[in-house]
Amino acid sequence: MTYLPLLCQHCANAPCIKACPEDAIKRRDDGLVWIDPEECTGCGLCEEACPYDVIYMNGELGIAQKCTGCAHRVDEGALPRCAEVCPHDAIVFGDEADSVFSEDEHGATLEVYHPEYQAEPRVYWKGLPKPWIAGTVVDPVSDEVISDVAITSVDLFEDGSVTALSDEFGDFWIRRMEKGRKYRLEIRKEGYEDFLAIVTTDGDQDLGNVCLKRTR
Ligand code: SF4
Ligand code: SF4
Repeated sequence: MTYLPLLCQHCANAPCIKACPEDAIKRRDDGLVWIDPEECTGCGLCEEACPYDVIYMNGELGIAQKCTGCAHRVDEGALPRCAEVCPHDAIVFGDEADSVFSEDEHGATLEVYHPEYQAEPRVYWKGLPKPWIAGTVVDPVSDEVISDVAITSVDLFEDGSVTALSDEFGDFWIRRMEKGRKYRLEIRKEGYEDFLAIVTTDGDQDLGNVCLKRTR
């Protein structure tokens, strides 16, 4: 299970803004997107339009609401509350041109969440969840797990492969695969026949017990 704190992505091409018939959703010069409570009629169209599902209806006030990026605090020179109170400094707020928003400490490019929505989100992520392939390698004859088995995933779209070894419980876990790809999984151990399979990472893939046949 993976947890992801999801807030308004303050999209540069925000479908919520286009969906609102009252022009109640606005983008400030600094890029923060906010809903004007004076103009919102509570029709709910923006809630349906937001691909990130981060707008909710305030039934009591009869209006739509969402993260404002704490625009009121930013105007006073303060950080958004979440960035201020996070004990792990997991949230950084600032000028998009700052290098901290372009790459991580290892030089890897930061990502946006669901770029395929084409909303041009302006929240940048480090370590977004990626699909994984996992399983347990088993010898059905001895009814024992097999450790130190080489499990290789070969990307069928690009050059490259990743190899992991099964641990003392026979478990293997290949992490951070690309979503929506096909991989050839090769499971090899001396004394056993090769196990080959095509795995599609349209989600996490738990292969369960993978039984290897002995060669003799
Ligand atoms: S995340 Fe949703 S609510 Fe926020 S700007 Fe984008 S479309 Fe609008
Ligand atoms: S709920 Fe308010 S902000 Fe959302 S589309 Fe309707 S009028 Fe616009």
